[in-house]
Amino acid sequence: MKPIIAANWKMNFTPEESLRLIDDITSQGLPSNVDIIFFPSFVSLPAVVDKLLDSAYSIGGQNIFHKENGAFTGEISASMLKALNIQYVIIGHSERRQYLHENDKQVNDKIQLALKAELVPIICIGETLKERENGQTDPVIKEQLNSAFENINLDNQKNIIVAYEPVWAIGTGLTAEKNKILDAHSLIKETLETIYNFNIPILYGGSVNADNAASLINIENVDGFLVGGASLKSESFCQIVKNITKNFERS
Ligand code: PEP
Repeated sequence: MKPIIAANWKMNFTPEESLRLIDDITSQGLPSNVDIIFFPSFVSLPAVVDKLLDSAYSIGGQNIFHKENGAFTGEISASMLKALNIQYVIIGHSERRQYLHENDKQVNDKIQLALKAELVPIICIGETLKERENGQTDPVIKEQLNSAFENINLDNQKNIIVAYEPVWAIGTGLTAEKNKILDAHSLIKETLETIYNFNIPILYGGSVNADNAASLINIENVDGFLVGGASLKSESFCQIVKNITKNFERS
């Protein structure tokens, strides 16, 4: 499996700025041994889709609403994203859980809707600093996974991704220690293996940058990264991609 590098641009860039960043990144050439997914804002999605149509890059939305359609002013549905020809959607990002009070039930509903629309969900889980300090990391991970995947039938679509993102490491410049990432990813793998009998890729997210990407990518069960801050500049993003390409040792 190729490492996956997901670039979460969050609430940054107009369509014009998004296209400029895409130009800067794509002009450096895409290495054949990584899968890159861009997550622009909703308003930039159509322009980015037009630009990257038929390219090897993939595109995703940063969120969907937890209902299929209806009177939900300002919200975007899974099928609306699908109609734009995009492939992926981030679900349950900690910023949405924290600032918009998104809960595990809504995350579960969103996964159902994403799968129904044939989008590949990237489901974010991870503990807060308080939970970590209270020794709650493992129970929190298990609880988030069990709620997210409750009644999710993956017989027809095996394309689904989990991102382990310790909340305290997102946008802070702090990265989880390698052994803690190894433990969390092993726990996620084991928990998912008890529900499904196929391999679900697990990304790490939390202050990944050009300096730490090379060593983090070789931790067992780290199948790629969800990158926020360092994906906002072509130099840092391309350097991450290059460092992964040079250093990825798994067969
Ligand atoms: C994220 O937003 O998912 C993320 C990991 O951000 P950052 O890389 O800035 O920590």
